[in-house]
Amino acid sequence: MQNSRHQPTLLVHGGAWAIPEEAQAAHEAGVRAALEAGYAVLERGGAALDAVETAVTVLEDDPTFDAGRGSFLTSDGRVQLDALLMDGGRMKAGGVACVERLRNPIQAARLVLEKSPHVYFVGAGAEEFARSHGMALIENSELVLPRERERLAHAKARERAGLADDTFSGPEAIPSHVLQDDKSPETAVRMHSHDTVGAVALDAEGNLAAATSTGGTLNKTPGRVGDSSLIGCGCYADNLAAAVSLTGWGEPIMKLVLGKWATDRVAEGTAPELAAQEAIAYLYNRLGGHGGMILLGPDGRFGLAHNTPAMAWGVATPGGMRTGLRMVGC
Ligand code: ASP
Repeated sequence: MQNSRHQPTLLVHGGAWAIPEEAQAAHEAGVRAALEAGYAVLERGGAALDAVETAVTVLEDDPTFDAGRGSFLTSDGRVQLDALLMDGGRMKAGGVACVERLRNPIQAARLVLEKSPHVYFVGAGAEEFARSHGMALIENSELVLPRERERLAHAKARERAGLADDTFSGPEAIPSHVLQDDKSPETAVRMHSHDTVGAVALDAEGNLAAATSTGGTLNKTPGRVGDSSLIGCGCYADNLAAAVSLTGWGEPIMKLVLGKWATDRVAEGTAPELAAQEAIAYLYNRLGGHGGMILLGPDGRFGLAHNTPAMAWGVATPGGMRTGLRMVGC
């Protein structure tokens, strides 16, 4: 590994929102555990794709985050999960959406990538595909936490009272041109918390990979799919461009195909540090969106950006490991 041309690098995130003080230690600890597990794969010469799957599996298993067990609930009180991963070397992707009976949807997404000529499975078809390839189907109730039942009840009470979700307290107002141009319902519900998880990696062979997994948005209508598992939106990887994973208010991210937008900037020569900032600025200026992004180029340069009060993130390189809750100079 010492002689390889590429310095293995792994970035992970655990959502971008106004992470309350009492939840910050758990977010940082979760991010660190994911980094340690994922980076161990890269250190022993493993593939970027294995590293991101490993890191995201750890985050899905951690009930701190909106992925796997502990995810936000749908309006009818269930957990519905979406996940995607992409191998930038082989240009292969696998995704699942609206799955309710899988503990680790990112592993089902990996099965789709490896074992199917298709890219994307949803609902019962995705669960059956995973089961037929050896994954256990569980009861949805195993993924539901009492904490999330309470959170849903609180959101519904506020909804009934005609109040917006109160879990985000962003400093900025939506730009005036957005209010004029975009009267869509999501503008009105932009204040949701975002605890989606993701990872991007570069391995010693120079391959890039990305993975994103989510329970979606709190109180979502059953069947709703967000940006996280849509290729080029919440996740993308191409060795000739970059690897990216996003979190945030999904509908604006989808409309801008923001992951691909950011990796295209890197392919054109923009440094990932700048491309990430430009992408989040574009999200906000164009549609009033909020979120965060990790972006990693094929030369190991990386960027992180968010326009929420905090983002749980971490990075591991041969030089060591760093985690944080705010964007810092990289
Ligand atoms: N982007 C996710 C979605 O809209 C939510 C999140 O990032 O927390 O489903």
